[in-house]
Order: sequence, then structure tokens, then C-alpha cells
Amino acid sequence: MKKIYLDNAATTQVRPEVIAEMSRILADDFGNPSSSHSFGRVSRNTIELSRKAIAAQLHAQAGEIIFTSGATEANNWIIRNAVTHLSVGRIITSKIEHHAVLHAVERMETEFGTAIDFVKILPDGSVDLNHLEALLSQEISTLVSLMHVNNETGVITDIAAVAEISKRHGAFFHSDTVQSIGKIEIDLQQIPVDFLVASAHKFHGPKGIGFAFIRKGLSINPVFFGGEQEKGLRPGTESVHNIAGMARAFELSYAHLKEESNHINDLKQYAVRRLSAQFPQMKINGNPDATLYNIINVLLPFSPEKTSMILFNLDIKGIAVSRGSACQSGSPKPSHVLAEMLEAADLEKPSLRISFSHYNTIEDIDELVNALQLI
Ligand code: PLP
Repeated sequence: MKKIYLDNAATTQVRPEVIAEMSRILADDFGNPSSSHSFGRVSRNTIELSRKAIAAQLHAQAGEIIFTSGATEANNWIIRNAVTHLSVGRIITSKIEHHAVLHAVERMETEFGTAIDFVKILPDGSVDLNHLEALLSQEISTLVSLMHVNNETGVITDIAAVAEISKRHGAFFHSDTVQSIGKIEIDLQQIPVDFLVASAHKFHGPKGIGFAFIRKGLSINPVFFGGEQEKGLRPGTESVHNIAGMARAFELSYAHLKEESNHINDLKQYAVRRLSAQFPQMKINGNPDATLYNIINVLLPFSPEKTSMILFNLDIKGIAVSRGSACQSGSPKPSHVLAEMLEAADLEKPSLRISFSHYNTIEDIDELVNALQLI
């Protein structure tokens, strides 16, 4: 059975060039980067070249990139640091953030009594920037934490605008850019964001590695202690093969951005055409004109009996997508993102997140639509 993977917002297939690079390092360059002998120096060099390559792509400085185990760690670190070290007394975020932000923010409230304000989300999935401006008019030291691209709907937030508003009000701005890094050009000379985070497995790199961008001049403390790695900010022996794999994946994503994004965008448009022809009552969750080219979230006009079985039935046919309105087990649990956007009646209906990569084809979409037709 041919398997079809349309869940690229969850994770992506690792590029063969990345696997080759990582395998070579695992086999040959096994030195501890902290060792001063030649084995160690080779590994150190790999790490620093990787850091430079990532920074150059973002128009950042190499010293502004700190490697972490991924975005959950980086988000938690930055949010905690803002409270414990930058004297932030309030965090403005939104209810459609990934739990790696939402739960970290909630934790600050319980642990330190940090105030939390949620900026309004409009029915099209966008952040109400007027409300953000109004919230920021209160004079209190603030961290604004808003994601760039929503992982369920693909809706893009104008982080340049958020950065400008935040700066104007003297607030720090952190953005979870997990879904946009490697898929949109980001120029950190132009966008005055203070902190952002990335995760390699979302751009065809390995799992368990990511990075935080910490703008130069911002003081940040470690949460772990015990080594001088990453300037003592993130101690522990570096995962050299993962770092090099991430840097390679990052470079390749941007080197092929134009052709791959065009291909993916064509697939998405094709999927929308086929799905709306097949299911005329289908609705797209989130403003279709403001979503990233690789994600669509569709609300399908299926009966409640069919709703709980959709993912299961697709999975039997080897098709992987994910569901916005209920967890996979079939017990209805509304998505916290769609709950902010949809009417109660629509929340009951199944929403599917279909997310593409350059490995997908038109045939994959035909198979998905055919399978949905038979449900
Ligand atoms: N933030 C967003 C928007 C995500 O989509 C994800 C991954 O699902 C994460 C954070 C967590 O990233 P990681 O898997 O690197 O911990």
C-alpha cells in the first residue's frame, strides 16, 4: 500500500542530503566539541560553521543563535527568562498559541503571579492588532508572545507589525516561528523581534534540535547549570550531528524555497479546488488569503457519526492528516485554536488539517479526496 503523508505541520521527512551529512558526522567526527585536541576541534568547527550558516540566512549574528533541544525548550526558556531576569510583570499572548507557549505562560502565572492578557482572535484566525495596541497602553513591563504562523490553520501574523507596536510601547517581543522558519524569508535586521525559536524537524531536519534567537544586548540566564557550552546558557555536550543536520536542512530549505514553495502552493490550490468540488459545503478555517502556502484547515460537512472515524478511516488507507476538532481516539475534544474562531455548531463538525511538503504530489491529493468521498 502506498502511504501518503499530508501532515507536514506535525513533522517532516528528513532530506537525504541531511541524512548523509549526519551519518558522516556520526561515523567520523565523534570528538567532543569541548575537547582541545584535533577530534574536539573538528566538532567545534562543525558547530560554529552551522551557527554562522543559520545566522547568515536570518541576517542575524552568529552569537545570537543558541542551540536547544527544540522549540518547546526554547519557548519555555525565553518566557521564563523574561519573567525571572527581564522583570516582566505581564505577558500578552493569544489563546491560539502552541501549548509550548500557552502552558509555559500559565506556569509563570502560577509560579510568579505574572499577569496574563490574551489578545483577541478574530473569526478569520488573525490577531486583533488594535486590541494588542490597547492592551499595551497600560504601563507595565511586558513580554508580547505571538506566533508567526499558526500550526493548525496556517494563518500568518504580521510579526513586523507586532514588533513595531511592541517596540513603540517598550515591550519585549517573542515569536514562536516554528512553522515559518525555513518556509518564509525572515530578515532580523528589518524585524525588531527580540526572541524567536525554531525546530529542525519542521523543515526536513532531525528531531530533538532547534535554536533560540536572542537579540544581542538582551540579558538572558540559563535554566540548567553544569557546563560552559553555548556560552554557559545551555550547558550539556552539544549534539553535533543534529546541529549540522539542522544547519544543512536550513540552508537547503532556503536554497530551494522558490521552486518548492511554488510546487506546494500549486498542490494546496489543487486540493482546495478538488475538495470544494467534492464537498460544496466545505469551509476553510482561517482567512485563506492570509495562510501560509503549506497548510489548509478544512471544515467538512460530515455527519456526527462519521466525524469520529475520519482519521481512523484515512489511516487505514495509509493517509496521514490531522484533525483540528477532535483527538484521534475519537473522543471529542475541540481544538483550542478552532475553539477561538468557530461557532459552536461548526466546532462539532470535523476539521482536517492538511499540510504539504515538496515531496507531495497531485496524486496524493487525489487519493485523499477519493478516500474522503468513500467515508
Ligand atoms: N511551536 C509550534 C508552533 C509547533 O508547531 C511545535 C511543534 O509541534 C512546537 C512549538 C514544538 O516544537 P518542538 O517539537 O521542537 O518541541
